[in-house]
Parts: sequence; structure tokens; C-alpha cells
Amino acid sequence: MTIDDAFTCKEVVELVTDYLENALLPGSRKQLEGHVANCPGCTNYIQQVRLTVAMLHQLAQEPVFPETKQELLEAFRNWKQGSSPQKADTQFS
Ligand SMILES: [Zn+2]
Repeated sequence: MTIDDAFTCKEVVELVTDYLENALLPGSRKQLEGHVANCPGCTNYIQQVRLTVAMLHQLAQEPVFPETKQELLEAFRNWKQGSSPQKADTQFS
């Protein structure tokens, strides 16, 4: 095992989110896992980040989408009312 093959702790910290999102190239992923396997500090760090990311994903899922959808619906409604005569709305069904 040469120095070139191993990641430093700093590199692990920088790449941990990519690693957890499966965004790393297979080669980089192997190097990162090789370092983590021999580094208790990075093992702990990755576990903490993994938990944090999972929590953020859960929190983000609920509020973001309904709000965005509502905004889109309202924008569409305003656009429709603005661009067509008011009577057309009541006849449309
Ligand atoms: Zn390390």
C-alpha cells in the first residue's frame, strides 16, 4: 500500500457527502473506504454525517414539495385569470 493509494483525513472530510450520495467514482470510493477502514476517527465522522444527512433528507421532504406545488398552482391560476375573460372560467367544465 503506497501513500498515493490512501486518502488523508482531510480528503475524507471533503468527499464524505459525495461518498454518502454515491457520487464518487469507483476508484475514489475504494480509496476512501480503504482509509476509513484503518481510521477510527473517520469511521465515527462518516457515521455522524450519515445520520445528519438522513435527518436533513427526512426534514426536507415534507415542507418543500407542497409549498412549491402550491406556488405553481397559484401562478398558473393568476396567469389563466389574467389572460382570459372572467366569464370563460365559469363556462369551463
Ligand atoms: Zn482518517
